[in-house]
Amino acid sequence: MRNRLCKIVATIGPASSSPSMLRLLHDAGVDLFRLNMSHGQHDKLEQVIKAIRDIERDKQIPVAVFADLQGPKIRTGAFPGGSIKLKYGAQLRLVLAKETADEDTIPIPHAELLDVLQPGDILKLDDGKLQITVESRHANHLIARADTPGDLKDRKGINVPGRALPISALTEKDRADLEFALGIGVDYIALSFVQKPGDVAEAKALIDGRAGIIAKIEKPAAVDHLEEIIDLSDAIMVARGDLGVECAPEDVPLLQRRIIRTCRHAGKPVIVATHMLESMVESIAPTRAEASDVSTAVYQGADAVMLSAETAVGRHPPTAVAIMDRIIIATEADDESGGYKIDGRDDQVYTTADAMTLSARRIAEVLDCKFAVAYTKTGSTARRLSRDRPHCPVIAATPDENVARNLALFWGVRPVVTEDISHFHEMIEKADMLAKANGGEDGDRIIILAGYPFGRPGKTNTLKISRIGAVSD
Ligand code: PGA
Ligand code: MN
Repeated sequence: MRNRLCKIVATIGPASSSPSMLRLLHDAGVDLFRLNMSHGQHDKLEQVIKAIRDIERDKQIPVAVFADLQGPKIRTGAFPGGSIKLKYGAQLRLVLAKETADEDTIPIPHAELLDVLQPGDILKLDDGKLQITVESRHANHLIARADTPGDLKDRKGINVPGRALPISALTEKDRADLEFALGIGVDYIALSFVQKPGDVAEAKALIDGRAGIIAKIEKPAAVDHLEEIIDLSDAIMVARGDLGVECAPEDVPLLQRRIIRTCRHAGKPVIVATHMLESMVESIAPTRAEASDVSTAVYQGADAVMLSAETAVGRHPPTAVAIMDRIIIATEADDESGGYKIDGRDDQVYTTADAMTLSARRIAEVLDCKFAVAYTKTGSTARRLSRDRPHCPVIAATPDENVARNLALFWGVRPVVTEDISHFHEMIEKADMLAKANGGEDGDRIIILAGYPFGRPGKTNTLKISRIGAVSD
């Protein structure tokens, strides 16, 4: 049982892929597990998802798993001896090659990048730790100048801030990883380095409803098309790692705020990711700034916050989750917690279901309801409720295991797999039972939402206000 509304994502890596560690992470509060396709080997990942499904079965708590595709991450080639030394102000040649033998040459095996580079373009290397600036183009190479001294090692990432590259968000590797991930039953696919709405549309056609899509916002080009990308995606990730390399550091907090707001308006879930408790990779406690960062995301209304290296390669994965859990709970106890603030959606058309969930929100607030129980076949009632941020958790009862897992991402939603109801009294009795299983007590007020006739998708039209244990209120 979880007693918080904002969800926790943990990235799996060498520090966390054993079944016993996965169980500890789940115990500590993980709602979604992230498989990073940049690193994981397929057979290993298959074992990880099996172990997660075992935990899920034992604990009867649906868990979402998502595969994060590497995307078109551009990297340098290989150097003689594994690295070269950049000297401040020294000239370097950039060539199209997988490796070179020269100390003053950077091989870049990506024609699509070399073709578009122009004098003045800045290349950030190794997550922005090093920087070079392009000076001139020549027939078979480019000349650049080192802006920072330091060692540049093999196969380090290259970011070109502000330049949209003529590449698809899906590489050959991504396509193979995508099919593999769908084959092992992931619930969402995260797309890295999305630049335009077409990137999401392309993935959507391949995925064909087999999983949800999380678009990672980590390129300025994606920020320029934010609304359309959100529209096409099932969820959004504020991927601050690469975003912070592609943009100036002072832009990142504003972009985070803007992306969360835009997602809230569109009614789409949003995950805030990267460096949230970074110092806990080594340390047993976070810095004050990190605690504040997690809290800020919760205040801003994020659906989920994410741990990356902290759980993938860190020394204290379960402690990082436990601390994140505590920070979220403490923030949510504050009335000003952004979770509750509804920033007004801009929908022009309200369906019956929209009207129902908006009303449920108001009822939960004025009657101080303990839970909203939503009977939902496709999950849409629970997603709408989550979007409208009621003042109580949403118990989403669905007969569909995949729907339940998908809902694990949504703010405030506690999914549970259970058979469809067929009668009105069953609707109330089961809601009582589910509310009690979640910590509700006799006399607590709950709201029940369902579609009548029962068992048909897409017809939320019934709202019952009830008290636990009082069958005829
Ligand atoms: P990554 O994405 O960890 O796959 O790079 C997240 C980020 O860039 O923040
Ligand atoms: Mn990234």
